[in-house]
Amino acid sequence: MIRRLIKVEGIVQGVGFRPFVFNLAVSLNLAGHVFNHSRGVDIEVEGPREEIDTFWLRLTAEAPPLSHITKVEQEEIPPCGRSGFSIQKSEDSGGKTALVAPDSDVCVDCLRELFDPQDRRYRYPFINCTNCGPRFTIIQDVPYDRPNTTMSRFPMCAQCRKEYENPANRRFHAQPVACHDCGPRLAFHNDRFQPAGSSDPLGAAVDLIRQGKVVAVKGLGGYHLAVDALNDAAVARLRERKKRDEKPFAVMFSSMTALRSFATISKREQTLLESRAHPITLVEKKYGRLLQGAAPGNRFIGAMLPYTPLHHMLMSEGPFGAVVMTSANMSDDPIIYKDGEVFEKLGGVADGYLVHDREIFARADDSIERPMAHGSVILRRSRGYTPIPIQLDRDYPSVLAVGGELKNTFCLVKGSRAFISQHIGDLKRESVYGSFRSAIESFMRLVDVPQVATVAHDMHPDYMSSQYALEQTMAPAMAIQHHHAHMASLMAETHQDGEAIGIVFDGTGYGEDGGIWGGEFLTGGADGYSRAGYVSPVPLPGGDKAIKEPWRIALAVLIRLYGEDIPTMPLPWLQELDPDTIHNIRQMIVGGLNTPLSYGVGRVFDAASALAGIRPKISFEGQAAMDLEMAIEKPVDEGYPVGMTDAEGMLTLDLYPSLKALVEDVTTGEPTPLIAARFHQAVVAGAASMAGALRGKTGLERVFLSGGVFQNRYLSDRLGDTLREMGFTVFRHGRVPPNDGGISLGQAIIAARRVLAEKEG
Ligand SMILES: [Zn+2]
Ligand SMILES: [Zn+2]
Ligand SMILES: [Zn+2]
Repeated sequence: MIRRLIKVEGIVQGVGFRPFVFNLAVSLNLAGHVFNHSRGVDIEVEGPREEIDTFWLRLTAEAPPLSHITKVEQEEIPPCGRSGFSIQKSEDSGGKTALVAPDSDVCVDCLRELFDPQDRRYRYPFINCTNCGPRFTIIQDVPYDRPNTTMSRFPMCAQCRKEYENPANRRFHAQPVACHDCGPRLAFHNDRFQPAGSSDPLGAAVDLIRQGKVVAVKGLGGYHLAVDALNDAAVARLRERKKRDEKPFAVMFSSMTALRSFATISKREQTLLESRAHPITLVEKKYGRLLQGAAPGNRFIGAMLPYTPLHHMLMSEGPFGAVVMTSANMSDDPIIYKDGEVFEKLGGVADGYLVHDREIFARADDSIERPMAHGSVILRRSRGYTPIPIQLDRDYPSVLAVGGELKNTFCLVKGSRAFISQHIGDLKRESVYGSFRSAIESFMRLVDVPQVATVAHDMHPDYMSSQYALEQTMAPAMAIQHHHAHMASLMAETHQDGEAIGIVFDGTGYGEDGGIWGGEFLTGGADGYSRAGYVSPVPLPGGDKAIKEPWRIALAVLIRLYGEDIPTMPLPWLQELDPDTIHNIRQMIVGGLNTPLSYGVGRVFDAASALAGIRPKISFEGQAAMDLEMAIEKPVDEGYPVGMTDAEGMLTLDLYPSLKALVEDVTTGEPTPLIAARFHQAVVAGAASMAGALRGKTGLERVFLSGGVFQNRYLSDRLGDTLREMGFTVFRHGRVPPNDGGISLGQAIIAARRVLAEKEG
């Protein structure tokens, strides 16, 4: 007889870990106990050595589906001779490093009960168990126990309590457990937010959607606006009311079968769509014209499957094949998640509200993923993933990194883990900035980081996140260069160290010299970098205006290529420009008036998109480049020509020759899909030769591809392949966004290493 103490860390609370341990111990006839505490789960088991060894092996091999073990240790302690195995009450002491689980889709067992007329939770929209349901969005503090969640106001009925207390039950210690009798309830409110349809709230919402109306539906991490995706007039009404012209809406399909009638779904895409996080997944439509209202002019659609019991009920009740489910907000405001705010902000947008009284504590948008050749890439990391940490190579001092400006996330380093926040959004908006500040506060509490050694921020002095870092009084601020942070983020994600080549392509980032960078070839790593090369810059006549009107950049490019005597081209926007405008823009460029140079590759793509006649003006960020990629029908082997120069140790990739060749193709009437592919291929070949030249100079063999431009599948796939053929080891993002949603992780690791280096002298 021996007794062993086993300490487990990771996501082990609120995921059925203790019942699993209980059942395992009982099945092996072991005595002892298990309990949750703020650092994880501790287990003491007593019995014959052989059985305890079996217990140890099965503990990690058979752990419950939502658990995520990051550390497990065991030590022998003196036996105490008591029999029986028990689950003890949570202990609330010590550092709160117990990890909180992300929210999960409803499990198959709960789904079966939901539609079983014999089950006592038949059609109960908040059904859940230890293997599924809300977590991160309802947890106010750790340890994860009912009083620390927004379920604290619902006392369990006798039957629920029996299940909750029975170790053999699937709901044993499932904190959000509830039923028709004791749990949260649905309600329907009319367009004036007055209670209506009280006997059948779901039916009332379904009726409105059927009539082509807009219904606000309270979900897991916030409200959605729902309309019938197959009703073009309804979708158009939603666009008009939401003030969103062309940006695609996500669509929820009732089932995989329903989705397959709109899109061809590969095995890998299916796995992703059905994963616990149920992300919005960008899949290719069967025909471009399908779902035109939801994703105008787009070959792809952001598809998702129902993930809460309420979604399943809504979709089957309709029955709806496809429903637009877009975050409830106006334009780029944060997703609305508080009942008190929903009417104030959506009055006039929603015709009805399907609400409930389970409070959402932390907002979380739907996550977005894009399948690529090397695997799926998270473009927006939020619901279903937050707060799963990124494991780091060692322990670091606590650090807060506040991220960028657009697609903001922040990141907390604690010990050997980096916790990236949920998607916060565009900090330029006042409302988003408020949400950013309060999210930092609650995240620091949840991860239990009362103090940090430094607050890392972007070098851009005007970013709201930088201003926050400079104004806060917790710790000294530390500025980190934008593209260095992108590269370090990918190195941290892929657990790589040392020196390497970084190709960081994005739209805009503040350079060390105060310039606009974004076509960067870096050498170095988390501990330091040099700018070894860049893409030739393009002028932005009118500054930020040129970002919304790519035709301005295109015109500047034409003037550079041809002088004032621009050739006649079959481009409507160019033909519509009067000679005065052309003259003015030329004056701006020549005189250097409000015409900054941008090194961002994103801007070169904007110019190419306008020159190809695809997108002279945009209505949302990244649209011109996205449409250029969408225009490609098949890859080409031969791209447009590029130039490369090496001056005083700095390499330049010159894309003007490819823009010139593109203009010639447009003039001779080459098909747009071919033009788009040739331009992309030019960037691929050019970037690959730059990497080759850098390898020649430095001997570095690893290449890291980061930055928002690598959301582009053609570039990511083809450049990755080309570099590998050249013998490079290539790293791309997967679990952390390549766009600015990922830079907080890079800032955090750079800052943490600097603090550590200073400490260790
Ligand atoms: Zn379940
Ligand atoms: Zn109950
Ligand atoms: Zn960036």
